[in-house]
Amino acid sequence: MTTTVGVVCEGGEGERRVALTPDGVSRLQRLGLAVLVEAGAGTSAWFPDTAYAAAGARLVSRDDLYLEADVVLCVHPPSDASRLHEGQTLIGLLQPLYDPGFAAAMAEAKVTAVSLDLLPRTLSRAQSMDVLTSQANVAGYKAVLVAANTFGGYFPMLMTAAGTTRPAQVFVIGAGVAGLQAIATARRLGAVVTAYDVRDAARADIVSTGAALLEFGSPVSTAETGGYARPLNTAELDALRQAMDTVVTRFDVVITTAQVAGGRPPLMIGHRGLSGMKPGSVVVDLAAGPLGGNVETSTPDAVTVTGNGVTVIGAGNLAAQVPTAASTAYSRNMTALLDHLTRGGELAIDLADEVQAGIVVAHAGEIIHPQVRAALAGTQERV
Ligand code: NAD
Repeated sequence: MTTTVGVVCEGGEGERRVALTPDGVSRLQRLGLAVLVEAGAGTSAWFPDTAYAAAGARLVSRDDLYLEADVVLCVHPPSDASRLHEGQTLIGLLQPLYDPGFAAAMAEAKVTAVSLDLLPRTLSRAQSMDVLTSQANVAGYKAVLVAANTFGGYFPMLMTAAGTTRPAQVFVIGAGVAGLQAIATARRLGAVVTAYDVRDAARADIVSTGAALLEFGSPVSTAETGGYARPLNTAELDALRQAMDTVVTRFDVVITTAQVAGGRPPLMIGHRGLSGMKPGSVVVDLAAGPLGGNVETSTPDAVTVTGNGVTVIGAGNLAAQVPTAASTAYSRNMTALLDHLTRGGELAIDLADEVQAGIVVAHAGEIIHPQVRAALAGTQERV
């Protein structure tokens, strides 16, 4: 029987992305899948209902979507996910390590939950499905535009009849996917860019972009952490923060992107650093989240100006602010994933497969992902 894929309208505040574009509809049809799209799902990302219909999707109400879809695609977990029923599959960025209760609810409802934020990213065959990478790329690009828009000066050096302007000095902390895109974008705008990361490989990446590398401390090994930076211990982090608090005062714009998997992002810039920066400087904290960010006082989606005139932007969900590009990339990740998860137009869950074992969180009434089980046990112990 042909599997029917449904695309829900994202409801969250400021969320303008859609999980599948009209091009994605055509791709899924080529895989033998039928596609339902909730009316208006793509409107905020500039994909009108007519484009979905022209691509062969059936436009439906949310009620009909929950009734008829075998697989529901989303960016964030839908607020009414309790309407999903036994045998359905939900695919999106479900954040089960932060919200294991949601995964437990899906397991209880016998819904299969597939969460792309757990994708084993270092497997080369998983790269086309890597939503974290595609969305971090967009966020890194947008962070620079937001910073440039807020900064009172030019990014490039300009020679005019009225004299020469010096280029903006930009510092990027954390050179993973978002950081490297921020470096490239700031350089394209003509800024002089310096960057820092704790990982050895990231330091080599910084050098290859042409940005200056800030040398500090010994690089950390990532051999046992799947390519991710390990959390620094208190002494390492204190030393790093002290160094950063001095270094940042040289820059006009600082963009921070440092994350550690599943934990609080390292606090890299304290009050001392902010108070030493020049008036008019801008700090964009891409790591700002519910657990905190890389910058003291930054909170998601909040802009504050310090007493000495430094604008601190806690960037909550920047990818959603570039909705067409972000949705296009997300949709391609989704179609690559569904190509992997289906055989002849039917869903084929195979937990022996390394990619699927990484992302299938709940299946057949059980939470089957060990990290999510552990996260759930942790929250139950705290209750
Ligand atoms: P991330 O979002 O987890 O972190 C962003 C950056 O912050 C990382 O480069 C990290 O090293 C850095 N960081 C962490 N703590 C820091 C600190 N105290 N000071 C300075 N920098 C700090 O990273 P990401 O962009 O999602 O990438 C994570 C890993 O996944 C990397 O190893 C990356 O190469 C890897 N990756 C692999 C693939 C692939 O193989 N296809 C694709 C994407 C990412």
